[in-house]
Amino acid sequence: VAHDRMKTELCEWVVKNKNQFKDRKIVATGTTGKLLLSHVPNLDITALKSGPLGGDQQIGAMIAEGMLDALFFFQDPMTPQPHDSDIKALVRLATVYDIPIACNPSTANFLISSPYFDQPELAPGGDPVAEQFQDYLQREID
Ligand code: PGA
Repeated sequence: VAHDRMKTELCEWVVKNKNQFKDRKIVATGTTGKLLLSHVPNLDITALKSGPLGGDQQIGAMIAEGMLDALFFFQDPMTPQPHDSDIKALVRLATVYDIPIACNPSTANFLISSPYFDQPELAPGGDPVAEQFQDYLQREID
């Protein structure tokens, strides 16, 4: 996912690091996904709905379903976004489900350089949500 003023940077970053993404399934918000496909047509990229039209929430739902291993979300910190609540929801779900999330290029570089990028199952943490939030799930409602 990339905000409009970060789309070029994300595309250039993916082109530079395309080997790290081959043989992976990538899902992207609509406009970002289409742009990425024009830059790296050989990658397996599915473009969902555009972010402000529900794409961020589609990705959030995939995180909640345990379908995503990492989130690359190049954010523009200087421009108000009409779908701010969707962005917050997406980042929140990535936090709840302990998904690695890169909101800028330098974190993205760290993420793809980690040995856990190839073997996420070896990464520490990552307890299932049902275990992490047991107290919450079993709370009494008066
Ligand atoms: P877009 O959405 O890729 O459809 O532009 C990005 C976003 O959610 O900000």
